[in-house]
Amino acid sequence: DKAIKLLVIGESGVGKSSLIRRFVENKFDESHDVTIGMDFKSKVMNIDGVDYKLALWDTAGAERFRSLTPSFYRKALGAILVYDIKSRESLVKLESWFDELENYSDNPNIATIVVGNKIDEERVVSREEGLKFARKHRSLFLETSAKHDKFVADVFRDIVEKIVSSGNFE
Ligand code: GDP
Ligand code: MG
Repeated sequence: DKAIKLLVIGESGVGKSSLIRRFVENKFDESHDVTIGMDFKSKVMNIDGVDYKLALWDTAGAERFRSLTPSFYRKALGAILVYDIKSRESLVKLESWFDELENYSDNPNIATIVVGNKIDEERVVSREEGLKFARKHRSLFLETSAKHDKFVADVFRDIVEKIVSSGNFE
C-alpha cells in the first residue's frame, strides 16, 4: 500500500470528526464529542487500480490549544480545512489554520482543500465567499453535508487525486 497522511483541521464543532466518520464508517452522530488529544482513522482508497492507504488525523480537542505537536504535521501530504457554512467566524479562523500549516508543515507543497460543511442547514456563508477564500489559498473547494452524506467522499477523492497527480508523491 501507498500511505497518504491527511490532516483534518478547523474550529471546534464544524464537523471534522463527522466528515471522517461518514467517510470511514458511513455513520453520523448528532452529538458532539470533544475528544481530548488526537484521533486517528485509516481507510484504503483505490484510484485507477492502485490502493492508497489514507491515514486521517483528526484534531480532536486540540483545536482549542492551537499549537499541535510537530508530529501531527510531520509528513502530511494533504490538509482538509473545514468550516461550518452557518458560521462566518469558522471561515475567518481558517486563515490562521493556513498560517499554522505554513509555519509547521515540513511539506511546502502540501495539498489543501477548503470544505464548507453542513449544507443541509440554512447558510450564512455563501458558496462564492468560500470559493473565493479557497482560491486565494490555491486550494480545492467543496461544500458538504456529513449528516446527509453529500459530497463527503469527493473531498477525500479530490485531495488524494491532487496528491497523486502532483510530482511530490513517490
Ligand atoms: P468537530 O468538533 O469539528 O469534530 O465537529 P463534530 O464532528 O463533532 O460535529 C459538531 C456538531 O455538528 C455535531 O453535533 C454534529 O452532529 C454536527 N454536524 C456535523 N456535521 C454536520 C452536517 O453536515 N450537518 C449538520 N446539520 N450537523 C452536522
Ligand atoms: Mg472532533
